[in-house]
Amino acid sequence: MKVTEHIDRAKGKTLFSLEILPPLKGESIQPAFESIERILEFGIPFIDVTWHREEFEYREVEGGLMKRVTIKKRPGTVGICAAIQNRYNIDAIPHVLCGGFTAEETENFLIDLNFLGIDNVMALRGDPVAGERGFTPEKGGHAYSLDLVSQIEAMNEGRYLDESIKYCTPTNFCIGVAGYPEKHIESPCMESDLHFLREKVRRGADYIITQMFFDNRKFFEFEKKLRETGITVPIIPGLKPLATKKQLNALPLKFKVDLPENLVKEVLKAKNDKSVREIGIEWCAEQSRELIKSGVPVIHYYSSGKTENIREVLKEIS
Ligand code: FAD
Repeated sequence: MKVTEHIDRAKGKTLFSLEILPPLKGESIQPAFESIERILEFGIPFIDVTWHREEFEYREVEGGLMKRVTIKKRPGTVGICAAIQNRYNIDAIPHVLCGGFTAEETENFLIDLNFLGIDNVMALRGDPVAGERGFTPEKGGHAYSLDLVSQIEAMNEGRYLDESIKYCTPTNFCIGVAGYPEKHIESPCMESDLHFLREKVRRGADYIITQMFFDNRKFFEFEKKLRETGITVPIIPGLKPLATKKQLNALPLKFKVDLPENLVKEVLKAKNDKSVREIGIEWCAEQSRELIKSGVPVIHYYSSGKTENIREVLKEIS
């Protein structure tokens, strides 16, 4: 079922969703299943599965020379999505990236998803690969997610890339896109970022999921600005319970988000990671309560593969 249909059926009740990562290459899928099973009782209607681009590593070869080797650390997004749908009857949403794909490869990928009975896709540009200074699209690929949205929407209307094919079965994907309450790092200003987000919706995006944030005021301002410009699609806030002291620096560095002063002070006072975890759960539960009260359709939790803390948050707010 489509994300928008889940929201309609909930008739104003806030739903909870989850983002998981595919296991590292060589690892078992079992921990991913256990992560999901830990929170099944809370009635999760859909789960996002991230996509990870290839990375490079330098390995020493004979004669002391170094060789650049391409590695894919987390393959298996499509396989996990199919497994989740079959095993739990929960809608699984693969993340589809511009980075690393030509438009034709994207089309073939979407055909696979359609045949697997996957109704939703999350359309993203992807970050630059490690070592790159800026994002470089694949030759014949898309530079921005809005072009990817256009391609998916064209397939939904039965228009594929090869115009010589006489009849193309229309797909029926529900399309999610990313939004940034604290602005995307590359965007020169908030207005510019919002302009392109509106454009993604105009081209066919059905809902927006936000980057994680730790201060609800940022989300409420962002939501207000989008609504004022006439955007009516669901805006789904993304949350993550802080779990370690290290994340005080790691999260702003990786996700370009601010942590509120009160949260930082509390975490710095904590004696050990157990206390940090408790602070993170309480903070996230408080954020969740306020968001539910404001009437958000879904709260999307970032799990990084671990759902113990998310389970605690859900227990607190249920
Ligand atoms: P875009 O929408 O293309 O925007 C990128 C930047 O370009 C923005 O600054 C925007 O304002 C600007 N822009 C957009 N269109 C134009 C235009 N036509 N001309 C000029 N400027 C333009 N990354 C992964 O690698 N794998 C994942 O699974 C993944 N999942 C994510 C899930 C969520 C909910 C979020 C919020 C992010 C996720 N990311 C993931 C990270 C994401 O790929 C990065 O944040 C990336 O840098 C931007 O992706 P985007 O789709 O927002 O890009």
